[in-house]
Amino acid sequence: MIFDRFAEGLEALEKTSGRIDLAKGLSNLLLDLSPDETAKALYMVQGQLMPSFAGEPMGMAGSLLLRAIGRALETLKSPLSEADLKERLAATGDPGLLAESLLPSGERPPVSLAEVYDRLLAISRLSGAGSQEDKILHLSRLLADVSPLSARFVGRFVMGRLRLGVGDATILDALVQTEVPASDDGTARKAERKKVREELEGAYNLCSDLGRVGAVLREEGRAGIRKISPMVGYPVRMALCERLGSGEEIVEKIGRAAVESKYDGFRCQIHVDGKVSRLFSRNLEETTAMFPEIARAAVEIFAGRSAIFEGEALGYDAENDSYHPFQVTITRKRKHNVLEKSSEIPLKCLVFDILYLDGVSLMERPFSERRKILEGLFPVRVRGIADRELPPEGVFGASRLIVTEDPHEVDLFFDEVVEEGFEGVIAKRLDGVYAAGSRNFNWIKLKRSYKSALSDTVDLALIGYYRGKGLRTKLGIGAVLGAVYDPGTGEFQSVARIGSGLSEEGWRDLRAILEELRTEGPPAGVVSGLVPDFWVRPTVVVSVLADELTRSPTHRAGRREGEEEGFALRFPRMVSGPRGDKRAEDATTADELRRLYEIQRQRLSGKGGEGG
Ligand code: AMP
Repeated sequence: MIFDRFAEGLEALEKTSGRIDLAKGLSNLLLDLSPDETAKALYMVQGQLMPSFAGEPMGMAGSLLLRAIGRALETLKSPLSEADLKERLAATGDPGLLAESLLPSGERPPVSLAEVYDRLLAISRLSGAGSQEDKILHLSRLLADVSPLSARFVGRFVMGRLRLGVGDATILDALVQTEVPASDDGTARKAERKKVREELEGAYNLCSDLGRVGAVLREEGRAGIRKISPMVGYPVRMALCERLGSGEEIVEKIGRAAVESKYDGFRCQIHVDGKVSRLFSRNLEETTAMFPEIARAAVEIFAGRSAIFEGEALGYDAENDSYHPFQVTITRKRKHNVLEKSSEIPLKCLVFDILYLDGVSLMERPFSERRKILEGLFPVRVRGIADRELPPEGVFGASRLIVTEDPHEVDLFFDEVVEEGFEGVIAKRLDGVYAAGSRNFNWIKLKRSYKSALSDTVDLALIGYYRGKGLRTKLGIGAVLGAVYDPGTGEFQSVARIGSGLSEEGWRDLRAILEELRTEGPPAGVVSGLVPDFWVRPTVVVSVLADELTRSPTHRAGRREGEEEGFALRFPRMVSGPRGDKRAEDATTADELRRLYEIQRQRLSGKGGEGG
């Protein structure tokens, strides 16, 4: 496809708001692409050049783009001074629109989508001395070679400001429609579309690469999608926990279960093949360079075999033969002086699952079988309730676990673990598969805070903010609007307006981040009963504590069809600034919120009984 046509497609998407229409528009665009173009186009509509785990960020500074526009104008013989350009940018506020308005239209030899993609990739990979100038030069040529409309999108893309509101869920829906088109009323072949959606999502969960999923679908159809299996180097989207409030509830739900310590460190998904190992974080960023001792130990343990396994990394406190608290462990999350820090605070990794071994996926095997394999590979230091947890002697050890169907034993283990300073426990269904990318009752967490009223935190995606009043006027921000995520609909649903919890500096920093994310009107997929002074694209996640969860006619969170009320938080306060480890889609879900409400209700009625 010619890039100028692709840009027209992007413009159409930009004018579309609802998720259903976005998916339809995107699927029409995809139908005109070859498999190879499909991958490239899918990365690009997400503002990326590669799947996000491959880390190929474009994010060029605005000043470089401005100089590239200036250079392009010079070659096209209509130069403008730098001051003039800056003034015009200040007037439009959007470097993409600026490029579009200045670059002349007219006949040019067509440039393909694939070529633009390849040139952008080459630009992003320029590094070292003099690379800034080279980037400007190559970008200026690219801008001059495409239509003004294309220049708008190239400009926004290189600055990381392509805001089409197309998330993972919309892309999956669009891909479904390339196979089974939706009728206008959405009813025809609904079951078939649902099936295709499940297959695509399953494949995505295994490779975390929508470009690859799209290309395979276009090239080999659904048969190809079904053949996608875990591969070393492609992170598997991680399994997540549900939560319950007591040992009794856990045993009632899943019966005899494995119950493990819940460690508070960094989740590591470790991929090893021969002499190479790679680590991925919970949000699928590569962390190999940050935790070299883990990467090295993995290669040693597997000695030429291949595997994908998961564990939690904790800072080791040699003096007390114990672990450091999270505040100390987190200091290992750094890009510089890694070696120095790793000798000061070495890491231990408590392995809790294995997904793949020697070319065979273990994900469909029951937990108990995976655990047996895991224990054959990693040493078990302590078992049982009364023992103190002892860190492994090497880097790796199997997580501590008991197997029980006695609710009291779960609670006892919980108390024991909490007393040792761990977060709580995670119970695992013995016959549960590794449920990639999903949160279900195969894993259930029980944390200390649930034991008293609603005092656990929720993680909210911010969807808007309010101008400050009174003492906060000077900060330019007084409150934020937070939302939970509904993976079923892809919606961000408002749940609280939060005006406390941060220091003055914290608010200032938050405003600076949110300002960059501002959108005209509510972003696609956001539903809210409140209208903030400024809407923002859901990107930032904060942890929030509240006194109570209540039903509310104002907020939309967790509201089901036919219900008048959603859920809201009473007296919410932020207990963290932006969380670098969570994406907006990792926010607390609408379903989790409903369950928290249920836990709270049971607790409150239990208390009432005692009083009466
Ligand atoms: P949360 O982030 O509160 O939903 O808890 C889930 C996280 O607990 C996982 O993402 C892991 O990083 C961490 N975790 C700690 N210990 C374990 C364990 N034994 N099994 C599974 N996950 C664990």
